[in-house]
Amino acid sequence: MPDIARLVRDIAEEMRGAEERGKVATYIPPLALVDPGHFGLCVVTADGEVHAAGDSEEPFSIQSVSKVFALTQALGKVGDTLWRRVGREPSGTPFNSIVQLEREQGVPRNPFINAGALVVADVNLAGHQPRVAIGELLRFVRYLADDETITVDEVVARAEQATGFRNVALANYMKAFGNITHAPELTLGVYFHQCAIAMSCRQLAMAGRFLMHGGLYEPGGPRVVSAQRARRINALMLTCGHYDASGDFAFRVGLPGKSGVGGGILAVAPGKAAIAVWSPGLNDAGNSMLGTFALERLAEATGWSVFAP
Ligand code: GLU
Repeated sequence: MPDIARLVRDIAEEMRGAEERGKVATYIPPLALVDPGHFGLCVVTADGEVHAAGDSEEPFSIQSVSKVFALTQALGKVGDTLWRRVGREPSGTPFNSIVQLEREQGVPRNPFINAGALVVADVNLAGHQPRVAIGELLRFVRYLADDETITVDEVVARAEQATGFRNVALANYMKAFGNITHAPELTLGVYFHQCAIAMSCRQLAMAGRFLMHGGLYEPGGPRVVSAQRARRINALMLTCGHYDASGDFAFRVGLPGKSGVGGGILAVAPGKAAIAVWSPGLNDAGNSMLGTFALERLAEATGWSVFAP
């Protein structure tokens, strides 16, 4: 096994100097202002060692990475009945696509495309005011990361509320099929705020530990989810975590991963490591360009893969 600390430093160094960095998302105005020069990487290994390099302490907008935590929360509330309202198949379409929803009667393909995440947010909203539902998710993420300083970036949340017309369309469309149970603006409020959670690579990697430890907070620690649920969330991350580039990510990196348009990716090497990477520039599929390169390098050098012993 290579020296992980050194590998993390070397990868950060290499990525810092990369010229081709992709394009930052501009459709959410505050994200357009983020410097594409950032790069952060953090690896938390199974024995609890933390290896971080680059801008690993700087909070960024986790965006769709939040869908992993929101899904975990929703499964805790309604268990497998969730799958009556959202599927478990890769979509093969971009993150905000509406085309499949008509053919498939308002049931989104999976919980990681926006339509599916809106259904998940609707589940998490049940019995609560939106503010309380968001507070509950934030408390859960803080617990997982063991860090009380994690917050929602209100500027980003408000910007999405003002410009997220496609998400508004998706929520209303599913409402017409009865698959959004609250007033769409309330469900959207929960969704926009969860996407606006700001975390650093270190915080994100820490929050992903339960997925490397078969559902345990840490080895010998309390159970967050069952081993079966952790496996299934990892399976969904592998098959659906990168939208229509999920197959390419599995091919290149070989680990469950979830990306966000803020340029973050959370990846899990079960039994071995939880990894978070951040580089704001995106590739054509809307996933972090250098983040994906970095994970490819890391997986290659360590041999970490769900397809190899
Ligand atoms: N908040 C973003 C949206 O709804 C999330 C998309 C993403 O991170 O992929 O458009």
